Amino acid sequence: MPTSPEQLTRYEKIESFVKGFKLSSLTYKRVMSLLDEEMKNGLRSQTNTYADIKMFPTFVRSLPNGSEKGQFLALDLGGTNFRVLLVKLDGNSIDIQSKTYLIPQKIMLGTGAQLFDHIADCIAKFTRDHGLLGERLPLGFTFSFPCKQEGLNIARLSKWTKGFRCEGVVGQDICRLLHEALKKKTSAEIEIVAVVNDAVGTLMSTAHGDNNCEIGLILGTGCNACYMERLENVGLWEGDYSYPEQVVINTEWGAFGDNGCLDFIRTEYDRELDTFSINPGKQLMEKMISGMYLGEIVRLVLERLTTEGLLFRGIDRECELFERGRFFTKYVSEIESDRDEFFRSTKQVLDELQVENYTTEDCKIVRYICTLVSSRAAFLASSGLATLINKLGRPEMTIAVDGSLYRFHPRFHNLMRLKIQELVKPGLKFSLALSHDGSGKGAALVAAVAMRLRDVKQELCDNGI
Ligand code: ADP
Ligand code: MG
Repeated sequence: MPTSPEQLTRYEKIESFVKGFKLSSLTYKRVMSLLDEEMKNGLRSQTNTYADIKMFPTFVRSLPNGSEKGQFLALDLGGTNFRVLLVKLDGNSIDIQSKTYLIPQKIMLGTGAQLFDHIADCIAKFTRDHGLLGERLPLGFTFSFPCKQEGLNIARLSKWTKGFRCEGVVGQDICRLLHEALKKKTSAEIEIVAVVNDAVGTLMSTAHGDNNCEIGLILGTGCNACYMERLENVGLWEGDYSYPEQVVINTEWGAFGDNGCLDFIRTEYDRELDTFSINPGKQLMEKMISGMYLGEIVRLVLERLTTEGLLFRGIDRECELFERGRFFTKYVSEIESDRDEFFRSTKQVLDELQVENYTTEDCKIVRYICTLVSSRAAFLASSGLATLINKLGRPEMTIAVDGSLYRFHPRFHNLMRLKIQELVKPGLKFSLALSHDGSGKGAALVAAVAMRLRDVKQELCDNGI
């Protein structure tokens, strides 16, 4: 807290540069009604073409029931991490072995052929190392980018997001691209039976043991949500209307605000971050919330306060704090985890960024900025979830959450719990459940459900039904 008059004016001045991050409950409620409207536009076939939130039907109609069995390969391509997994399911027991591989930035910004060849190489290596050659392996692919699905294993990429921009993939069926790359790279008998988004995988994974779970949320590199919707509300549905009359909708709500409807809450820092991103004007809600961007927003504020002479008065202009992308979102978690007056983690971060001659007062301000930026992110994500909870109107709801931002940030869970409580209709109960290995296990579960349904169909055919 400021003690001297000089400090008081310093804090007042700082406040004038950051007040845009402090939004009232009324503002979050306004965001909710805009989001609700945009989601309705996405669901209706007449308005979907120009809607920002695409509300993609996924072809996932049933949640797992615990009877899934067998050995599956799963891939998880999320934006930061790429993993190959071997998942063994037997009723409620699950055994997972996995390996994480690196996707170099050159490949993220290269051609589609290079990307899928690289993925196929990793799978080939994984199957060799795990002695799986010669086995028949159904594969579930968690591919966490907006796709228009034409079947459980047909998904056309509608646009790249996060850090990816590979040439020649938009509009293509990513399962076919992977299938062709696999044919070249391995002799293993792999069949791609399902492709899902990570939010959907997360929902599947938690729903496996919890019947109240109908919403999945990702707070990782990106931000996205999915939920179970009744078919009668899905104008875009082209499949059959057989039981169960429901389908999981992948909202792709990260694109909320791309038509300008969130401009009234975006700050100068949000605008600058967007201008220098690889996809300006796109994914504006995601850019205020997710792990790929929060650190950079904090960095931009710190840079501005420094330029105004309100922070780091002894700093060298050449230091790394002034480099774009240099302030990682994990620093925000580390700084906010500093509970004592010694600011040990904050100092460690500042040292890593080569900031010199900082004071304890500077550390306090840095922590304050981190809390402002992360609270707004958590509250915006909460507004999204509260909109879905109100829409579904179920008396009890579990929300499955995955992603490193939610997992590791010290306050995200509590901030969200309190804000959602404030925003949902009275009487609706909810809980936020961290999903364990949502995207990996989820992809295998979707593959398993698909195989189970396929077996049931085959049996009906064999019996002439
Ligand atoms: P993916 O999106 O590929 O599934 P993750 O869920 O691991 O991967 O999310 C990666 C994102 O999480 C990155 O943008 C990174 O900045 C952020 N992140 C990683 N560690 C932390 C942390 N300790 N606190 C907050 N954010 C983190
Ligand atoms: Mg993930």
